Amino acid sequence: MAQDHLPQSAHGRPSPRTALERLATGADRAARITHTEHLPPRVGRHANWPESIRPEVVAAIAAAGIDRPWEHQARAAGHAARGESVVVATGTASGKSLGYLAPVLSALLDGADAPGAGGRGATALYLAPTKALAADQRRAVSALAAPLGTAVRPAVYDGDTPVEEREWVRQYATYVLTNPDMLHRGILPGHARWSSFLRHLRYVVIDECHTYRGVFGSHVAQVLRRLRRVCARYGAEPVFLLASATAADPARAAGLLTGVQVAEVTDDASPRGELAFALWEPPLTQLSGEHGAPVRRTATAEAAELLTDLVVQGVRTVAFVRSRRGAELVAVIAQERLAETDASLPARVAAYRGGYLPEERRALERDLHSGRLLGLASTSALELGVDISGLDAVLLAGYPGTRASLWQQAGRAGRSGQGALAVMVGRDDPLDTYLVHHPEAIFEQPVESTVLDPDNPYVLAPHLCAAAAELPLTEDDLDLFGPQAADLLGQLERRGLLRRRATGWYWTRRERAADLTDIRGEGGKPVQVVESATGRLLGTVDASSAHTAVHEGAVHLHQGRTYLVEQLDLDENVALVTRTDPPYSTMARDTTAIRVLSADVEEPWGEARIHFGSVEVTHQVVSYLRRRLLTGEVLGETKLDLPPRTLRTRAVWWTVTDAQLDAAGIHPEELPGALHAAEHASIGLLPLFATCDRWDIGGVSVPLHADTGLPTVFVYDGHPGGAGFSERAFHTARAWLTATREAIAACECDFGCPSCVQSPKCGNGNDPLDKAAAVRLLTCLLSAAPDGPDAQPGDAPEPAGDAEGAAGPGGSQDGAARPPGGTGGGEPGGGRRGVE
Ligand SMILES: [Zn+2]
Ligand SMILES: [Zn+2]
Repeated sequence: MAQDHLPQSAHGRPSPRTALERLATGADRAARITHTEHLPPRVGRHANWPESIRPEVVAAIAAAGIDRPWEHQARAAGHAARGESVVVATGTASGKSLGYLAPVLSALLDGADAPGAGGRGATALYLAPTKALAADQRRAVSALAAPLGTAVRPAVYDGDTPVEEREWVRQYATYVLTNPDMLHRGILPGHARWSSFLRHLRYVVIDECHTYRGVFGSHVAQVLRRLRRVCARYGAEPVFLLASATAADPARAAGLLTGVQVAEVTDDASPRGELAFALWEPPLTQLSGEHGAPVRRTATAEAAELLTDLVVQGVRTVAFVRSRRGAELVAVIAQERLAETDASLPARVAAYRGGYLPEERRALERDLHSGRLLGLASTSALELGVDISGLDAVLLAGYPGTRASLWQQAGRAGRSGQGALAVMVGRDDPLDTYLVHHPEAIFEQPVESTVLDPDNPYVLAPHLCAAAAELPLTEDDLDLFGPQAADLLGQLERRGLLRRRATGWYWTRRERAADLTDIRGEGGKPVQVVESATGRLLGTVDASSAHTAVHEGAVHLHQGRTYLVEQLDLDENVALVTRTDPPYSTMARDTTAIRVLSADVEEPWGEARIHFGSVEVTHQVVSYLRRRLLTGEVLGETKLDLPPRTLRTRAVWWTVTDAQLDAAGIHPEELPGALHAAEHASIGLLPLFATCDRWDIGGVSVPLHADTGLPTVFVYDGHPGGAGFSERAFHTARAWLTATREAIAACECDFGCPSCVQSPKCGNGNDPLDKAAAVRLLTCLLSAAPDGPDAQPGDAPEPAGDAEGAAGPGGSQDGAARPPGGTGGGEPGGGRRGVE
């Protein structure tokens, strides 16, 4: 790295192309760039605010420095002013908030003028996915609305709002900023105290609405239906104004979320500079991993190196890293390397993750904007609620999971219409490896749609109880809650949760109905990790991953420190740990059995069959291995006595016949490794088609399954009742499994590696795996797949009632073992397994 003659920040910044050329200097560096896409600049288009926006509001916005809105802002405001619900889905930093604030502020002024309303003839509610974002927005609204006087009275109402302020908010605030959790647990159950606010509710703003997807999104959809019902009771029918990151078919997703007809505004009229977007594959190292597999340099190390180079060039850069620890690591490595070049540079790099105080975030924004800070390593927490415009480059350490979030992160680069650079560094897994070699899957495909499944009975049932507690449910309410509601009410009645009387269904229990469900879908109480010597709470582990992560004897990592678990108390949900540095790591081994409850759809592919239906997965952690650090040598295995966990969910599965195996030349002794390898790689590639995370899904492969009587590979949703991932897999099966076969066949390793068939969460320690036989097996399976429109990642036909979502890495450490009898392996799905 010849850095000494490169210009420092004080001497101006290189163009994106120059910056990229410098990153690619040197023979081995250039080879790492697998593709560069040049996206052309866009010129901004202005429009006028609709006539109905009050002149005082237009003046206040002008006073904030915006004389005329962009076209998309004006169009969104127009829909809102006409009383039509609307979703604005445009790029990062395109000014979506002004599109809804103009009509909201205008309505609040109208309301203040209305006779006899005591200055509160109109109110608005703002929902953000995080408390931090709501707090930021309150500040933004207060600043913008300062010239408008007392008609606009914004206030945050969340878990942190002091009790003595709450009454004021309920009685006097005109713009209440909160989150869906508070709506679910606080506002709706206590709606009587909010009656005057709800009676005048004109608008409900739903910011960052693309974050409401999958199981969480389905819960929020039901919370919004409850809100509409309670509003109707007070004679209000609010208009919904939604802001989304770029997404496909946003009106459909917004309609599913709110249950009302929503118009969409998607044509982004804000200006943008040219973007050079490079795909980057880290090189293979000399190290070898499990079973001697070749190992690539990690995306974290590679991103840290690129960040260092960009900072030296004076290029303001954010590196997006998937985990908190990874973000901290990138910052530390970059700082160390920079110290070797220039003692003043390390201080100009920082790490950012969720959970920072507002003042800390403000300081960070200021420092990035002023250029005092040149490099920032961040988790995706930065996507929300932090205003960082004015960057020159964005590094993505690993594919962020969806094209929508890839573009949202890349969109952070480019200040005021200037050119920008984005580099995605692939991780050592099948999906990233596939993407860096198939740029068309990124650049020629539309972004995903945000889908959710409000009809999931596991989601809907507790909301029916909560709704009944708010106001007795009647036959007239059934439409609002969808086609499953009638059936479920009967079940809830039989379970004694609801009681039917002549006037409707009532909640008659003493406990709060809203406590029946956690809308973030964590599934069971988290286990607290407590240091036994001090009693200090170190953190928590999801209930679903506790058995694999903090079983007795487990080595547990927390903020770079190592602890040994002394005891896991499942009754108290506590794991007691001691600080220590053992020379080994532990890996839980488990057995997974899967039972077919019902096969709902079946498609013949010649003799092969592909199915979608309901399954029951039984998962038990049975032992753990101690493995020497560095070499991975197994030091011993210890048995564990933990109860099995059961998950009823949805799955896709495929079978092949013995005749097909013969034809494909797969011998019986190769079969388990072929199925297992195909299963791993297909789980790795599914996120490209189903907008999930590989940790959201699980798999099992069995050479002879009792229910099918055939060699079978299952891939299932890791959420009770399913979350739509496997359904999407079924509908895109041909494209999905074709990409799977290609990813395995194209991998440059000899016998399987993390870039193709090895899985980081394998329940069997990645054994057996047969890469070559897996390719033959998939070729044989696909040979009779029906021709159809060649579905591309993400644009497969969308079945009605489909659901999807990515709940983020659940942290399920995965564990490991072949079920007794040696039939196949299991990949635990989902960090959120909740049904016990
Ligand atoms: Zn490989
Ligand atoms: Zn496995």
